[in-house]
Amino acid sequence: MPQYKTTAVALYSLDFAEWDKLVTFFTRDFGKLKGIAKGAKRSRKRFGSGLEPLTYSTLSFFEKERSSLVRLDHCEIIESYPGIHDDVLRVGYASYLGELINEMVAEREANKELFKLFITFLYLLNKPFFREEFIRIFELRLLALTGYQPELRKCVICRKEVNGKKEHRFSLNRGGLICSDCFRGSHDYPSLSGGTIKTLQRAQTIELEKVTRLFFSPQAREESRRILTRFIEYQLEKPLKSLQFLEHLGSYRLN
Ligand SMILES: [Zn+2]
Repeated sequence: MPQYKTTAVALYSLDFAEWDKLVTFFTRDFGKLKGIAKGAKRSRKRFGSGLEPLTYSTLSFFEKERSSLVRLDHCEIIESYPGIHDDVLRVGYASYLGELINEMVAEREANKELFKLFITFLYLLNKPFFREEFIRIFELRLLALTGYQPELRKCVICRKEVNGKKEHRFSLNRGGLICSDCFRGSHDYPSLSGGTIKTLQRAQTIELEKVTRLFFSPQAREESRRILTRFIEYQLEKPLKSLQFLEHLGSYRLN
């Protein structure tokens, strides 16, 4: 059996058979990967806490013939993000990032840019200066890296460039902004102010090392939360469990 090594973040971990665990990882070199950790319920010697959801580690595994599941061999922790696990709201946000990765990434399809994005935002989420708007930046960049980038620079109907001072409507099914000339009144099209549009345009292109320099106004926070979470659920064609959990915490109104 060939052995492989990669860096990875555990997304989900389930008890499997009497002593084993079935774990889903997002790996740097192999995309999403599922594997069996033999005896992991009995002994933590080989895996430590590397099988716990949202732990970043170096992972060794074996490919098994005629099986899409790998055999997990060993984990070495790189970062366990104590600042996330100590705070229920941060756990909620981290679960949301993990669920987005799990839902939007195919098995065995490496996406190193997306892996870097995930690690960067787990790092930020672990820091005291974390702000909710970082989640919006993550959403926008995830959408771009998975082929669902929303059009925020031109009207999706007439292709006219967006005037930065005006309010625009957002079309979920067309995946972008509609200008006032093209808009034919319907409440299904939420609105975005000129200020919010500018902030989101910046969020689409800002270097990851500089995201802490970007601040959202309260209006931009509200509008972008509503539109991006709805747009993602529209693309996935189902509600996200972690969003319901965040809503339940009461500090995260969705609509
Ligand atoms: Zn238009």
